[in-house]
Amino acid sequence: MSDKRDYYEVLGVERSASADEIKRAYRKLALKFHPDQNKDDPSAEGKFKEAAEAYDALSDPAKRSKYDQFGHQAFTQGGGFPGGGRFTNVEDIFEAFGDIFGGGGGGGGLFGDLFGGMRSRRGDPRAGRDLKIVLDLTLEEVDAGVTKTIELKRQELCETCDGSGAKKGTSPVACSACGGRGQVHRSQGFFTMATTCPQCRGAGKIIESPCVDCRGNGRIAEKSPVELQVPAGIEDGMRIRVTGAGDAGAPGGPRGDLYVVIREVEHNVFQRSGPDLITEVPCAFAQLALGDKVEIPTLRGRVEMSIPAGTQTGKVFRLRGQGLPHLEGRGRGDQLVRVFVETPKKLTDRQKELLTEFASIEEEQSGSKSFFEKIADYFS
Ligand SMILES: [Zn+2]
Ligand SMILES: [Zn+2]
Repeated sequence: MSDKRDYYEVLGVERSASADEIKRAYRKLALKFHPDQNKDDPSAEGKFKEAAEAYDALSDPAKRSKYDQFGHQAFTQGGGFPGGGRFTNVEDIFEAFGDIFGGGGGGGGLFGDLFGGMRSRRGDPRAGRDLKIVLDLTLEEVDAGVTKTIELKRQELCETCDGSGAKKGTSPVACSACGGRGQVHRSQGFFTMATTCPQCRGAGKIIESPCVDCRGNGRIAEKSPVELQVPAGIEDGMRIRVTGAGDAGAPGGPRGDLYVVIREVEHNVFQRSGPDLITEVPCAFAQLALGDKVEIPTLRGRVEMSIPAGTQTGKVFRLRGQGLPHLEGRGRGDQLVRVFVETPKKLTDRQKELLTEFASIEEEQSGSKSFFEKIADYFS
């Protein structure tokens, strides 16, 4: 009766998969098929929704057991989602599964950012403000991943008045101008317009004697430590969202979120290119001409690298797996080692003598047309 794909098949997991495996599988698919990441592939959104629907059914133990017994029919008769059309747009999906993408700290928070434009439960006037900080990381920290404790200055509910803003023993009273509604109605001709009450500024309440600690604000700026897990391989400019780590909201309202923007500190040995590292290594002309073994610094110690005889200046060698970890997935990037000739600025008399002799032999030997002869040919 239904041509819908099996939910386990959609997620690519066994029927015996654990809740964790299901969550991981879904996260992977959601990342892969997110419409923002697949602007050229119109089928991605369908797959994205299909995965969300499968996850919705299999992540809930009750729904899952129903599905195991009855298949898709479990939900077609007054069940979870009529006709499977529960998710009409991408925002709904984030609304429903926000926690697995934006999860409190940890690597999960990263997903929200990769997807971009994830909205927290805004629109609630009692919600606290979002905060944004910049976090400097060294390449070594990016390499290993790091847990940082940040001293964050943010608004916390005032403990003295529990956020009401009213002095101990008193409570805010309903605003007389709007009767506690926060809005007043004004008639203009035929129309009645609702506007924010000027007396209470929309709060609906008036604090007659303010709390001395917060001066009626209900909130106080405090420094709080926030622990942040930064995944290995993160890149400059990326953001990590920590749900609920922003300012406290009004009593009963949700906290804002914290956005941590990653800034990479320049390294004096390595340059970064995605997961790859680039190192410039100065060599003597003789090393490149005769070949040599050189020690190359990597982020995790030194390694020996062979330079074959006759290596040209500017040649790039690739040290596989010596780069940074891939952010999502396994393995590491490479380290690219560019060797170049460093011309000596000062020569001893003996060095000059040997180089001059070397040059004269080179002239005699060179059978092939020199660069300058080729140029002469070109212009003739
Ligand atoms: Zn009012
Ligand atoms: Zn207070």
